[in-house]
Amino acid sequence: MSLALELYRSIPRYLAARAIGGRAPGLVAGPLAPIRLVNRRDPEPDRPGWARVRTRLSGICGSDLATLSGKSSFYFSPLVSLPFVPGHEIVGELVDEVDGMDAGTRVVLSPVLGCLARGLDPCAACSAGLTGRCDRVALGHVSPGLQTGYCRDTGGGWGRIFAAHRSQLHPVPDPMEDRVAVLVEPLSCAVHTAMRASVGPEAEVLVVGAGTIGALTILALRELTQAGRVTAVAKHGAQRDLARRLGATDVVEPGEAMNAIRRATGALKLRPERGPSFLLGGADVAIDCVGSKSSLDLSLRATAAGGRVVLSGIPVGGADLTPVWFRELEVAGAYTGGTEQVNGEARSAFDVAIELASAAPLEGLVGAVYPLRDWREAIDHALAAGRLGTLKVAFDPREG
Ligand SMILES: [Zn+2]
Repeated sequence: MSLALELYRSIPRYLAARAIGGRAPGLVAGPLAPIRLVNRRDPEPDRPGWARVRTRLSGICGSDLATLSGKSSFYFSPLVSLPFVPGHEIVGELVDEVDGMDAGTRVVLSPVLGCLARGLDPCAACSAGLTGRCDRVALGHVSPGLQTGYCRDTGGGWGRIFAAHRSQLHPVPDPMEDRVAVLVEPLSCAVHTAMRASVGPEAEVLVVGAGTIGALTILALRELTQAGRVTAVAKHGAQRDLARRLGATDVVEPGEAMNAIRRATGALKLRPERGPSFLLGGADVAIDCVGSKSSLDLSLRATAAGGRVVLSGIPVGGADLTPVWFRELEVAGAYTGGTEQVNGEARSAFDVAIELASAAPLEGLVGAVYPLRDWREAIDHALAAGRLGTLKVAFDPREG
């Protein structure tokens, strides 16, 4: 048995919407929260390729907050199994030796529970290394769960011990601090996002949102593509500084973004009778790293005809799709990292992320670490992180 935070039921959305509304601190982590601190039976993996991992740090991700606040879509309900221990951004250490990896090895986790982890012959997507597109995340000997952190069998990073399959584990280079290593998973998503953006040489790129994913996406665009100007939309001071540090050319507040892109591209701005203005002309590529109605509207309305819009944040709001039709936009999802074509070479997004994290100035991104018992405070902090000048909040389950 060991300590873990457990999500034990889904919040009815009508209740969540009525009671919680937006981002009121104290309510999500309050009495309505479907989460509790428990002593849970440790997973006892007895299948080949499975091992126990002891969590060192586990981040609180936007998707975790969307799940806790009842904002994520019911679409996901058959893709999770309750009760589960959240936490998929993880650095930990192996408790058991597994397939040539020694006990004690420090590892980061590729969270998708695809065919290999489920004891199935790989589906077409898994065979191609695109485990994020696996068709069998609800099948096999593991309970449904698109990822570790959404599956009742495996445990997750918000607990002291979880189980992982060898195919999910990547060793961490010795010099890398835990507070940087815990960013490798979100960085692997950013690497994937940058590749999904299909950025041409000198392309005009708009990145909406400069929280952890937005900031890391800017880094990946700079390091892996030939993007020209990268305009970042950031709400808060610490986010603006980080966006610049990681390679944004221009950093603007949300209300200024449309004008900034208009000026940069010489586009024509038009104002409808109702709703936000839009451009004729605009960015070649827009990447929505937020997922709200306003961030998606901005991304769609600031992109030039024939351009590409990448959805990186989970879209929770209904945006107006008229520009997709009228501007013939390509809309692409970017869910998680897999095997990427980086400069013509097939590479694991995790390997690329570990390489980038080793060289980039990522110290200080993890701005607060909490023991599990202080989970309410941790979640409130994560919900208000931007405003409080914090990028990433994490749990250290080794403490209390
Ligand atoms: Zn598969």
